[in-house]
Amino acid sequence: MRAAVISWPGVIGVGEAPDPEPGLGQVVVRVRACGVCGLDVLIADGELASVPYPIVPGHEFSGEIVALGPGAARKWRVGDRVTVDPILPCGQCAACCSDYMMECEQRGAIGETVNGAFAEYVAVPAANCYRMPDSMTWAQAAMVEPASRALRAVRRFGVVAGQRALVVGANATGLLLLQVQRLSGVKVTLVDRDPGLLDLAMDLGAFAVATDIAQVGGEKFDVAIDCTGDPEAMEGAFDAIHTDGRLLVFGTPHASGRIQLARVPLYDLQAELNRSMAVLNSFGVALELIASGSIRTDPLLTHALPLASFDEALKLTRSGAELKVQVLPDFEALDPERSIDLGGRGQ
Ligand SMILES: [Zn+2]
Ligand SMILES: [Zn+2]
Repeated sequence: MRAAVISWPGVIGVGEAPDPEPGLGQVVVRVRACGVCGLDVLIADGELASVPYPIVPGHEFSGEIVALGPGAARKWRVGDRVTVDPILPCGQCAACCSDYMMECEQRGAIGETVNGAFAEYVAVPAANCYRMPDSMTWAQAAMVEPASRALRAVRRFGVVAGQRALVVGANATGLLLLQVQRLSGVKVTLVDRDPGLLDLAMDLGAFAVATDIAQVGGEKFDVAIDCTGDPEAMEGAFDAIHTDGRLLVFGTPHASGRIQLARVPLYDLQAELNRSMAVLNSFGVALELIASGSIRTDPLLTHALPLASFDEALKLTRSGAELKVQVLPDFEALDPERSIDLGGRGQ
């Protein structure tokens, strides 16, 4: 099969790889869409200690089952359309048996510790598969994973109706967090330098938008979420919460990034800082919310590229100038008239 392989940090290629065989309890999925995210950039740059190179990345994906391993045939058939929770907990330790699966020290993840879905085929545990409704597109199903992270973060925050939230960064993550919080009755103000993205944010239900935190007018928020990873943006977000407020760091900070939180007099400070990236039991709910149209993902999809252009997909994601970029391994077989620039945003 064809696959995108990161042989070593900075060494990225697309070539032939052995077809995966389904092991015990596994299925092989023919990949139809796989989203690129900040984690893939970290893997390409060698910033994650957990990665055993060479690795095929890719953890936001959908496709159809083409082979069943022993024990997988009870629930699944060849041809079933699925999207896959990439988290591989050990299932045995104290963390796995509680609500803190992400703290499992033996935890693996598809596309991070084992080969993932920037490939024509990927072998995955049948237990990680979720059935796609007939109406759901491959592209939508590949958005369930990032939506489930947003959902998990908002659940863990415990926001309630009527609260005010500030989201900094109208990237794909920010626009998913906006929608999930809005479903919980939270009034969301979104800040981004790109006015075009702010129009989309209003369309997706933002209460207010601004191109700079300074324009928010000194309002203090119950919750602020940084989706940029930019130290200055994080400090601005922190300054914008009231003393009981909470800051969630959702953006991927650069390894050398440092933030200073001392601008608020510490005797006044009861703020809580959270770092949440866990999917944890939110995958099925995120799938339902996308299927029902409660979370809209189509406007977030700006580019679809063939597997051969994996490097380009990574560059687009790294630039931060685009929303979600997806790789479609069977792109060449699709409509040749299809534009590479999906123009997501306003759809
Ligand atoms: Zn991701
Ligand atoms: Zn465990």
